[in-house]
Parts: sequence; C-alpha cells; structure tokens
Amino acid sequence: MLDYRKDIDNLPVYDVVERDWNIKVNANESGWNLPPLVEERVLSSLSRIAFNRYPNTEPEDLSEIIAKRFGLQKENVWLGNGSSEIIDKIFYAFGGEGHKIVYMQPSFSMYPICVKSADAEGIAVPLDDDYKFNAEKFIEAVKSQKASLAVVCNPNNPTGGLIPVEDIEKIAKEIDCAFLVDEAYVEFAGKKASAVSLMSKYPHLMVARTFSKAFGLAAIRVGYLLADKDIISTVGKVFKPYYLNVLSTVVASVVMQMYDEFDPRIEMVISERDRMYEEFLSLPGVKVYPSDTNFLLLRYDKAKELNERLLNYGIGVRSFGNAPMLDNCLRISIGTPEENNAVMKAIRNFAEGR
Ligand code: PMP
Repeated sequence: MLDYRKDIDNLPVYDVVERDWNIKVNANESGWNLPPLVEERVLSSLSRIAFNRYPNTEPEDLSEIIAKRFGLQKENVWLGNGSSEIIDKIFYAFGGEGHKIVYMQPSFSMYPICVKSADAEGIAVPLDDDYKFNAEKFIEAVKSQKASLAVVCNPNNPTGGLIPVEDIEKIAKEIDCAFLVDEAYVEFAGKKASAVSLMSKYPHLMVARTFSKAFGLAAIRVGYLLADKDIISTVGKVFKPYYLNVLSTVVASVVMQMYDEFDPRIEMVISERDRMYEEFLSLPGVKVYPSDTNFLLLRYDKAKELNERLLNYGIGVRSFGNAPMLDNCLRISIGTPEENNAVMKAIRNFAEGR
C-alpha cells in the first residue's frame, strides 16, 4: 500500500459524465466556436509565437489588456489555468489548518473540493427557499465562524440567481476577511451585475472571471483574478513558474481585445435562455428557477427518468446525484437555437407523457 495522504480518500469527486453526445448542454460551455473574425486574428497571432522559449513568468501583455478593460492597473490582475486554478489557489492562500472558508450551498461543486485540498474547514451557508440568497445569514456565518475567506458565486452555479450588487457591497462593508466573488457567468447578467467597481472601496474584495463561458474559450483554460495589488502579490507566490502556456495567453489576448465581437452571441444566449424559461414554466410538474446565466435549473419529481430519456437521445444535461439541496434537479446549458429546440421538444414530450 503506497503511503499517500489519507485525506485524499475523502475528497469529493468533480464528476461530469462525458461521452459522444448529440447535444452537449451539461457543462455551461458556449454553443459556438470563435466568431470568424476573431478566429482569423487568433491564427495569425499564433504564427508569431517563439515556441522554443519559456513563457514570460508574468504574461504582461494579457494582464495589461485585462487591466485596461476594467480601468485597473496590471498589478491588480493575476492569470490562472481557468478560474478553477484561481479559486483553488485563493482557497490555498487563505486556507490551512484552523482556517474557515464560508460559501453558499448549493453552489459551484469545486468549492468543497478546494476547501479539502487547502486543509481548511468549509462552512456551507444554505440558500433560503427557492434558492434565494440571504445576505444577513451569510454575514452572520462569516462573522460568527471568524472565517478567513468568504466566497459567493454570482450569478450562482447551479441555481442561476443573481445577488444584487447592493448586497455584495453590504457583505463587503460588514466583513473584514478576504471576500471572493466568483463571476464566471456575470457577462450573462447585464452590465451592472459585476462587483468590480466596488474593489477600489473595499480592498479585501476580489473578483474571479473566466474566458470559458461567454467567450467560448473553455478549451484554452484561462481565467483571471482582479484584486488589490497586495493580495495579488501574496496569491502570486503560490503559483509555480511558467504555469501558463503561451498558446492560451495569446488566444486570450486576442479575444480580450475583440470583446465586443461577442456581444451578439451573449445577447442571443440571454434571449434563448428567456425563451426556454417560458417554455419550461408552462410544463406540468416542472419547476424552473429564474436565471441570469447561460443555463437553467429544473426541479422535477421525475428528473431521474427524464435524464434517462435525454441520455437515450444523446442529450447530455447535468444531474447532481445526491448533492445537498439539489435532489430531483437537472441543469441545462443554453445551446444554439436548434439544440435548444430539440432539448425543449424532448422535455415537453416526456412531461406530457409521450
Ligand atoms: N466558477 C464557476 C461558478 C464555474 O461554474 C466554473 C466552471 N464550471 C468555474 C468557476 C471554472 O471555470 P474555468 O476553470 O473554466 O475558468
């Protein structure tokens, strides 16, 4: 028997069922590859890469481009292999033995995994009925537990709801530990949803973002942290040298400079989401939760059977096994209009007993 860390046995697994789907709407990806103009620029940038050289330890260009977009300095930006890595390293930096990390439940299933690998203690604050976020309850948990890190996912995965920026400010005002807002889906929530503008007033407030969702770059694995420069230099210490590859940072730089090219498809996702919400609302026995993201959460007594029917059609949605507070729930990402039509038809047929 090899002598590995025994607590690995208790790590929850981030389980996503993967196979050759006809329609893949299980991971909140974009339904589209890059817009043609962006793809053209990406390909020409790749031809200028010095493949024989190690990447810059700090990919200055991308950090600078991101900082400029948010009216910040490059010292306020840190890049990661997806925002997954950013989140993991923040949990590590603020975790450790005797440290408590408070997050909401249900929320992104990686948080409890990151808590474990940070050797910290996780405190899950349940959402209220209908998955409503209760800022007072959250603040109370952070204070009474003397937490070292508080995390909210906004808008929340997998429930879809948005915490108003006023509530984010209320939390930032009341708590004095590190406060991370995970904004993986914020581009689908309207221009005023982000907490970035609060950062200058509350230096303990950090924002994690990703290129994987609205910008359709899940394959290249780039995310970023926006934070006070002292936090950035501390968190930066827990990253290894050359941790990002140049191919990914070059692609992300092109995309960041062509940000506006993505507006039409973000609008399309929002209008498709609203169309699907109305459709699901009209189905017998199905409950659908309002969403500010690129997915919808359904609760349905026959969720297991419905999921099996969808599997038979090669349609992959996300089911949650026995995850707390998510029994009988399925999460469906918004795909292309054709994919959405097929998904809605399959679900309507099942709900109406056909
Ligand atoms: N935060 C949330 C809430 C997510 O749902 C995800 C991806 N599912 C991530 C962060 C991580 O995304 P990535 O690592 O692709 O940037």
